Amino acid sequence: MAKQCGECGIKLGFRSLNHIDGVDYCDECAPRIKADSVKRKELQKAGVQDIFVVTMSDPPDKLVHKTLGPVSARAVVKLDILQDFFVNFMDDFGGRSGAVQRYFKKAEKAALQELRIEAAIVGANGVVDLRANYDLMEMKQGKIILVNMTGTAVRAATAQDSVTGPPGTVG
Ligand SMILES: [Zn+2]
Repeated sequence: MAKQCGECGIKLGFRSLNHIDGVDYCDECAPRIKADSVKRKELQKAGVQDIFVVTMSDPPDKLVHKTLGPVSARAVVKLDILQDFFVNFMDDFGGRSGAVQRYFKKAEKAALQELRIEAAIVGANGVVDLRANYDLMEMKQGKIILVNMTGTAVRAATAQDSVTGPPGTVG
């Protein structure tokens, strides 16, 4: 089987193998992927909490002045229900649904973190139009929760409350 570039899909010869984070890339894509990979690791360390993420496309407290294209992220969390079931056996308020809820929250948090990193890589300071899909899947190894998130990366300024103008006025 001929290998393909993980980015552009071009067929790779034996001489042009650039292995980055477990995937092969062509000579053209490799430098960019490598730079992103380095950036991603830096961002994971530094944190990206200052990047805002909202479900609306036009948040009232932000002035979006540039869109930078779609960003996406996913997170997978394996459920350890048996363990949690016994924990919750003694907890009248939690119960099994409470435990599952916590796993969803955990997966959601992880996906949001990834999405913020992807946004930071393209130079955004926010993500608008967030869409999230949640799946509970039965695997051989047990149940897993899969969270998929997509949004639009943007550059935005904080909108100043205008005393003089009506809403929507920039001044
Ligand atoms: Zn390529």
